[in-house]
Amino acid sequence: AQPRNRELLADLNPAQRDAVTHVGGQLLVVAGAGSGKTRVLTRRIAHLLAERKVHPGQVMAITFTNKAAAEMRERVVELVGRRANAMWVSTFHAMCVRILRREAKVLADVLADSGSSSVTSNFSIYDADDTKRLINLVARDLDVDPKRYPPRGLAAQISNWKNELITPADAKAAAAGDAERMAAEVYPEYQRRLEQANACDFDDLIMRTVELLQASTDVAEYYRRRFRHVLVDEYQDTNHAQYVLVRELAGTERTEAGTEPAELCVVGDADQSIYAFRGATIRNIEEFERDYPQAHTILLEQNYRSTQTILSAANAVIARNSGRRDKRLWTDSGEGDKIVGYVADNEHDEAAFVAGEIDALVDAGEASYSDVAVFYRTNNQSRVFEEIFIRLGLPYRVVGGVRFYERREVRDALAYLRVLANPQDTVSLRRILNVPKRGIGDRAEATVAAYAERERISFADALRVAATSGSDIGLAARSANAIARFVELMDELGKLVEADEPPADILEAVLERTGYRAQLDESDDPQDATRLENLTELVTVAREFGEMPEAFQTEADAVSAEEDAEAAGVDEPEQATLAAFLERVALVADTDSIPDADGDAEEDDEEDDDEDTAGVVTLMTVHTAKGLEYPVVFGSGWEEGVFPHQRTFGKEDELAEERRLAYVAITRARRRFYVSRALVRSAWGQPMYNPASRFLDEIPAELVDWRREEPTNGASSGGLPRAATTWGRGGGFGNDSAQARLAAGGMRSTSFSGWKDDWKKTAALELAVGDRVNHDKYGLGTVVSTDGSGPRATATIDFGTSGTVKLMLMGSVPMVKL
Ligand code: ATP
Ligand code: MG
Repeated sequence: AQPRNRELLADLNPAQRDAVTHVGGQLLVVAGAGSGKTRVLTRRIAHLLAERKVHPGQVMAITFTNKAAAEMRERVVELVGRRANAMWVSTFHAMCVRILRREAKVLADVLADSGSSSVTSNFSIYDADDTKRLINLVARDLDVDPKRYPPRGLAAQISNWKNELITPADAKAAAAGDAERMAAEVYPEYQRRLEQANACDFDDLIMRTVELLQASTDVAEYYRRRFRHVLVDEYQDTNHAQYVLVRELAGTERTEAGTEPAELCVVGDADQSIYAFRGATIRNIEEFERDYPQAHTILLEQNYRSTQTILSAANAVIARNSGRRDKRLWTDSGEGDKIVGYVADNEHDEAAFVAGEIDALVDAGEASYSDVAVFYRTNNQSRVFEEIFIRLGLPYRVVGGVRFYERREVRDALAYLRVLANPQDTVSLRRILNVPKRGIGDRAEATVAAYAERERISFADALRVAATSGSDIGLAARSANAIARFVELMDELGKLVEADEPPADILEAVLERTGYRAQLDESDDPQDATRLENLTELVTVAREFGEMPEAFQTEADAVSAEEDAEAAGVDEPEQATLAAFLERVALVADTDSIPDADGDAEEDDEEDDDEDTAGVVTLMTVHTAKGLEYPVVFGSGWEEGVFPHQRTFGKEDELAEERRLAYVAITRARRRFYVSRALVRSAWGQPMYNPASRFLDEIPAELVDWRREEPTNGASSGGLPRAATTWGRGGGFGNDSAQARLAAGGMRSTSFSGWKDDWKKTAALELAVGDRVNHDKYGLGTVVSTDGSGPRATATIDFGTSGTVKLMLMGSVPMVKL
């Protein structure tokens, strides 16, 4: 094993080597982007297995996405062989699902002691949409005014509490203000309904696992003894509940049974914490040393990913955040090319620039499609890129499963599967009750729901009563018959599940026997053809899942290897069952990447394939890009209101998080970084005139080569008013022509659904001549004149040295009236 060891350590710098070989206790690796944190984690695992003779079953590694987990597993297998497959490498959520399914009985006992009920091992996992639906139902039943207390806000508050491990009872005591008090009312009822539906939402997965480990010393002892090594990547994005989970798993002191704490190794970068909206807190990193006084800390300072130019840009941007520990990241990979900047007339022009540039790079042999990634701030921005890529025939895929799994037909099909796997799943059951239409109307549904409430039984059980004695509960005979047929259909399909048929076959049967496919087949609506394609895609996903050799049947290998499996506590092999498939889908749709319907379903074609034009361009949000790297990166939509997102205006900490997001975006690039913005962008069917992102101004001017700057007259951009100079040069916003880009008659307007809610929420700022205002970017000003009304309202404001600017007032403007 000696040569192998040298191999494992050869291409590491001394600090990295220390981290890989460190023995005992807790280890914290804090370091900037691209400094090899993930590499250290992977090598450390390989080193543990190869050199320290740790059994793979004793290793638990936690990553932020399933994709990252798969990659890590693959790397370790490459390094030490297939036996490494017995490791647990997964996301927090997947790990918790696994534990909860195994320990459902124990959890039920534990909870029964404390008087609350629990879920059984076939529980459903509710994603954000299911959660919102259920909260909607609960809020309606509790007569909550949805205008005053939007379900979305209630859901967010409940989620926050769960991330802080605050139970419904604690929430009541902790709630401050009307909105929180209302959320505290909804929380226990929501929780009760979840339990009744035998479902966990995402936050429950973590919270319940923590509950389980804290309540049962046997279970805690089992996992402690089993996992002697716990490793966490992207530690900066763990929230409080996850933090406690790690602490419970690894332990801080010897247990009564004499088990020492596990070796815990976490790696992260406080500057890349970008999930505060999910309750993640940098505190976990910053206070790690305090919480584990004996912990060893290692800093990594050499960046191996990017050129000096890219690194300097990223460093300059993140340096604007206050209260951070300054890091000295350096690279010896040379200056590299300048950053290329582009100011587009509108989002279509921007997409055309990006597409043209990619084409040119590939033609010139400087990059293959798979070398290129295009980033945007929010998912809805992908559409314009997709349109032009399709038109030009550029191969691409949209990463970020949300979109595919949010499609109605996909959700319908999955709802069927979920009801089959877990008949108590009320949200899914009510979703498909009359889809396709089978004569069970709203009134019938309401009657059944009311009966269920009255009798305190589940909706599913009430439905069975309705099927046999409908008239007793007040149903018309026709409805009762329709319900009876539905129940019968589901029972038929249920037999396939009992027989453990492959998920793809069950899905096919659902689409056939429910008439779902036939209905789309017969339709003339072109959209229905797309729906059919998406369902076909879903069947493919299910089929592939059934055939997946490793990721989910990994433990089988370990068992066949028959190494001291018993001692290490290796599980039963996991099967490609319907439940496993649904779990996979639910977790993927959360944070992860799945090929879009139009995309390429192939696994990552990264690194080692050397065909020049191989692969596809990757489109994704910056959030999804965390931890990844690409030779060529396009950062699009760098505009105030887009990136930083308008909802962060005026909020110091949220803006700091947007800036970290910008840091993440830039540091994904290895050789080339492009940055672009559009002068006009359609939002909610209205043209929006966004000034340059402040983050653009923060990139040192000498690092950027502007391919196209803001026009100094209106000629090329649909009648933009004259502006004094281009922006961003010579400091300050004094000459910022961000101003006054009003005009724009005849712009194409496109509707971006994602924006809708945000804009709708906020009315136009009401201003009159003479009013004093404070603008995020321009500072103090006085209103000179106003024009238009509603969404078209504008005001011309004198900002003194920052110039006179005409601004739209619709939506939440980064400005307050004084
Ligand atoms: P991020 O903060 O973005 O997650 P990271 O710190 O996890 O980044 P890695 O992804 O592990 O960084 O490494 C960045 C790149 O540098 C990878 O391509 C990796 O293979 C390479 N790399 C890391 N360390 C070395 C090294 N010692 N020698 C050569 N290449 C290295
Ligand atoms: Mg990493």
